[in-house]
Amino acid sequence: MAYDSLHKLSGNDIMPDLYRFMELILSPACLVCGASAQRGADLCLECGDLLTLNWPACPRCALPVEHGFQGLCGHCIRKPPAYDASLSFWRYRAPLDGLLMGLKYHRQLPVARLLGRLMTEHLSDTSIVIPQALVPVPLHVSRLRQRGFNQSIELFLPVARAMGIPLLREVVIRQCATSSQVGLSRSQRRRNLRGAFLVRGTLPRHVAIVDDVVTTGATVNELARVLRRAGVECIDVWSVARADEPHSTR
Ligand SMILES: [Zn+2]
Ligand SMILES: [Zn+2]
Repeated sequence: MAYDSLHKLSGNDIMPDLYRFMELILSPACLVCGASAQRGADLCLECGDLLTLNWPACPRCALPVEHGFQGLCGHCIRKPPAYDASLSFWRYRAPLDGLLMGLKYHRQLPVARLLGRLMTEHLSDTSIVIPQALVPVPLHVSRLRQRGFNQSIELFLPVARAMGIPLLREVVIRQCATSSQVGLSRSQRRRNLRGAFLVRGTLPRHVAIVDDVVTTGATVNELARVLRRAGVECIDVWSVARADEPHSTR
């Protein structure tokens, strides 16, 4: 370092320079693009702006609806789902799809911390009735061993903690390993899921099922049916993302 530079770092100037340097090396990289992230956010401003809020949406199933449309979507009018209301925070598109895949398939656990914090912020801005507990969609034990964690638990644990409500991680288990739902017809999906969930504990009157992505709603619908049979009166579904697949297969 040149003498002049050293000289400039001396005396009163050195602390601000040191702070700036420490901030630079300690500031986290954006989980999407790698640029310098906002303090404590793991996301840069540009990538944060690319997250698309799932709004407007049907209040029952969270499927996107046209601007200005009010009330339930056609699917919910024709065949109401087993749950009462849905809240999906964002649409399932870039860069959120990549973030969630990074979490699920590449163990990028900071993604759960980031999205958990953003969801908590959104919830604190709403007048939503807070459930008495969160129920994560359980993974079968073989899938859990393979992945090492349940992404729904990781994503919603920060939310549960911030709201001061329990996240019931073992009250419902997945007792058979269901094959992938992709490419199955509506009735095949239902058959594939039949008997998948077992309640083995007590549940409060009002819960929210929590999941990473809701696509057709078949999985959360089956879980809601099982919770209803176990005596739960009010069932919400909260998901990080809603895939705006046009044909629900409930
Ligand atoms: Zn970025
Ligand atoms: Zn709907």
